[in-house]
Amino acid sequence: MYLVEFQHERKALIDAQVRTDRLQLLFRQTVFSVLGSFLAAVMLSWLCWSRIDHALVFGWLMPLGASTALRVALLVTYFRSPVVRRTPECWELKYWLTLVLSATIWGLGALALMRSDDLLIQALVLLFTVGMSVSAVSCYSAYRSMTIVSIGLVLLPCSLWLLFQQGTMQVGMALPSLVFASFVITATRRLSEAMETAFRLTREMEHARDIANQAAQTDELTGMKNRRAFFHHAEQTYAHGKRNRQPISALMLDIDHFKRINDSYGHQAGDQVLRQIGVVISECAKEGDICGRLGGEEFALLLIDTSLIAAEVRAEQLRQTISRLCCDHGEVITASIGVASMGAEGQSVHALLNDADKALFRAKAQGRNQTALA
Ligand code: GH3
Ligand code: MG
Ligand code: MG
Repeated sequence: MYLVEFQHERKALIDAQVRTDRLQLLFRQTVFSVLGSFLAAVMLSWLCWSRIDHALVFGWLMPLGASTALRVALLVTYFRSPVVRRTPECWELKYWLTLVLSATIWGLGALALMRSDDLLIQALVLLFTVGMSVSAVSCYSAYRSMTIVSIGLVLLPCSLWLLFQQGTMQVGMALPSLVFASFVITATRRLSEAMETAFRLTREMEHARDIANQAAQTDELTGMKNRRAFFHHAEQTYAHGKRNRQPISALMLDIDHFKRINDSYGHQAGDQVLRQIGVVISECAKEGDICGRLGGEEFALLLIDTSLIAAEVRAEQLRQTISRLCCDHGEVITASIGVASMGAEGQSVHALLNDADKALFRAKAQGRNQTALA
């Protein structure tokens, strides 16, 4: 049940991440294409300059320039926004609107340049709209629907216009461009599927790595930090406390006569006791403290900003809580605890735990179920 829920959650998370990855790619790929499409319009106008009405050119380039400026503004706002706010919900619709606007202006403007008596202009305009369609494939590869819509808006008006002209030459130009567009649209499916798979695999690998890391740091039985993770975190906490001149103390805890529990009630009963004690210790840890199971029936707790006296009080509370635990087999469980505090010169976390371990040894020697100070 939990596993199914976990898998569902994980799939939903990966889906959301893949969508965000595609959006990121879209914006990165757009940077050059936005200016490129405007420059293409300028170039086409320049090539046709002597053969077309100049008012028409300005009537086309001005709205196109405005829509390009809008797209540039969108890009700048996107890249300036904090990464957490670069979500598909925030940006997809805005992107769509500016894309449709500029592709419509491009397509209609190109159509307006067409003249039924000028074959050169027809060929040039078609050449540029086909070129724009090709670049749409690379610019919007993350979103297949955008590629299709922009090809449709830019290429279709001119191609359809040519198709309905009288001359065979025009039809001969329009048909290949439409066939070409249909090939390109088919190819984008494979491209976008491959891209989706690549994003998904990357995210799934990241998740698998996180799970493996988590597993490598966790004690399977109690869910606490294992020895390696405990020392890793304890070293950082210790260094931080030392820098800030905060007192740091350590508790080493060992269950008394634990072997007897195993021998009398079985290994599973022993495991249950370990889990219960794990919960008690985790609950005793305050924010910033580090606790873990170092191995067998031995636990450690690093207390931040805690003096030796305060640590002794915490250790006593912990010891008493353990002695009041209700176990399935009904036997009273006790533990011995060694307490040590960071010296004035602050040695190392290993030395500190070593001191706590020596104190624990004394607590055992003095009769168990007690706390001893280093
Ligand atoms: P002391 O009071 O001196 O600490 O005696 P003790 O019996 O607790 O200590 P000892 O070192 O003799 O025995 C520890 C026992 O802990 C032996 C081992 O079988 C048991 N143990 C270690 N790891 C686990 C575990 O994961 N599960 C269970 N059930 N038992 C474990
Ligand atoms: Mg023991
Ligand atoms: Mg032991």
